[in-house]
Amino acid sequence: MENIEEIMNANFPVILQSDKLAKYIVETAVYPREAQLLKELRERTENYPRGNMGTSPDSGQLISILLKLLNAKKTIEIGVFTGYSLLLTALNIPHDGKITAIDIDRKAYEVGLPFIKKAGVEHKIDFIESPALPILDKLVQDPSNLGTYDFAFIDADKWSYMNYHERLIKLVKVGGLLAYDDTLLGGFVVWPEEDVEAVHRPFRKAAIEVNQALANDHRVEIALTPVGDGLTICRRIA
Ligand code: SAM
Repeated sequence: MENIEEIMNANFPVILQSDKLAKYIVETAVYPREAQLLKELRERTENYPRGNMGTSPDSGQLISILLKLLNAKKTIEIGVFTGYSLLLTALNIPHDGKITAIDIDRKAYEVGLPFIKKAGVEHKIDFIESPALPILDKLVQDPSNLGTYDFAFIDADKWSYMNYHERLIKLVKVGGLLAYDDTLLGGFVVWPEEDVEAVHRPFRKAAIEVNQALANDHRVEIALTPVGDGLTICRRIA
């Protein structure tokens, strides 16, 4: 992938009718209920390079409910950045819960670490600085890992999502969830390619392919929810 810096800096439009509606949702229903340390981490991230990459707080709110409904105890996250979704997950699993968190960027994780420590949830996190695929391959090779994860959150390089999916479907238990972030890509998935800026095209192509592949995968039930930048929730059924 060429020009990765430029691609990763890309800003996507909101997928709702207007920015005003997106603002209304977070200001009415999300920010007033957001945990204090999540709020502090979100605000800290706003001043960090590529600070727009954090998981949307409205998606976070939905993920919190899913984690609680699942009684999730063992989870895996691909794409940590400064740790908004990671801290959110850690706050919503029990004291003895565990999160395997994978990212190539330890520096960004360390920005969020003081907030994680302050929340008293660092012991739940096993952060692995690495590209995700070799770690997933290693996890899958150990039979004792198969079907043991309650929840997987995937928010990293979009063009690798289906490679991750093939591994994660084996690691997540039947009845467990896999949640893929940014699957509507600022609405670009329905734009003709020529109308999309060149910098956004690889993301658009990846999201379209992921949406098609997940829709055709009968090992999961799916719900492509228009929250944040699109969150596809998959429940493993086979
Ligand atoms: N979930 C995060 C949050 O709430 O702040 C945001 C994640 S951000 C959208 C994407 C992250 O994926 C970046 O931190 C990037 O370093 C990481 N990433 C990109 N390619 C990766 C790869 N091959 N393996 C692991 N992490 C990767």
